[in-house]
Amino acid sequence: SATSDDAPSRPRVLSVAGTDPTGGAGIQADLKAFCAHGAYGMAVTTALVAQNTHGVRSVHVPGPGFLREQLDAVSDDVHVDAVKIGMVADAANGRTIASWLDALVAERARTGAPRPWVVLDPVMVATSGHRLLDEGAEDAVRDLATRADVVTPNLPELGVLTRRPAATTWDDALAQAAAYARASGAGVLLKGGHLTGGASPDALVVPVADDVRVTTFDAERVDTPHTHGTGCSLSAALAALRPRRASWEDAARDAKAWLTGALRAGAALRVGSGRGPVDH
Ligand code: PLP
Repeated sequence: SATSDDAPSRPRVLSVAGTDPTGGAGIQADLKAFCAHGAYGMAVTTALVAQNTHGVRSVHVPGPGFLREQLDAVSDDVHVDAVKIGMVADAANGRTIASWLDALVAERARTGAPRPWVVLDPVMVATSGHRLLDEGAEDAVRDLATRADVVTPNLPELGVLTRRPAATTWDDALAQAAAYARASGAGVLLKGGHLTGGASPDALVVPVADDVRVTTFDAERVDTPHTHGTGCSLSAALAALRPRRASWEDAARDAKAWLTGALRAGAALRVGSGRGPVDH
């Protein structure tokens, strides 16, 4: 029988994010991605989102008090190996997640336990154009991002994080990511999916001493309209993989390869009549 000295059979991974009742994005996608990578999935809800494959209808935010109760209910009981943070929704939620993470990291330091791995997907605007982050809440996300090991912005989100116009070329994006990694100390998994053209590169830019180390993951562009939940699923896969990989590079390479397959397989799903989900 299992004792507390045994290594766990699966990494315990927590998503802190918004919902998608059609299962393509948000917490529902994260849990499927965790499962696909053999992790034990948990989820704390920042916002309830009435949405489908056509777009977002409305957002309900239970608020920072109840968010903190959910977060504490998990961490008071379960040893969390990795955290994926997605839709934060507003500044008060962002500050709540930051202070919970600070308390968790301090407790781990006190007991000599390892810190949780932290991935932040700086979700701001849905592809349909609906805002998933309040205007004026960008500072709270920038602040929260300083606690992440890796952030996973698309090009417009990287522009917001760095207070620059969104990069329109891959080289500009890499330069922004490098500047951000050096300044913040967080790694950047940069997603090239918003670029036009035949390829869909991703790159992991991690700070090392006074410089950065860049690893590029090339992939053929999957030509499909069914990309709903792509970013959620990639960041969740990264968080689920990291506890069992030797480096962020190894985790990112495997997450990206898995996502390419999930995008291909999504073409055969028949979920909704809009922009359908990737197949986890
Ligand atoms: N809904 C939620 C709750 C999300 O967290 C996200 C993005 O990360 C989306 C929707 C975005 O979905 P889409 O792929 O349609 O832009």
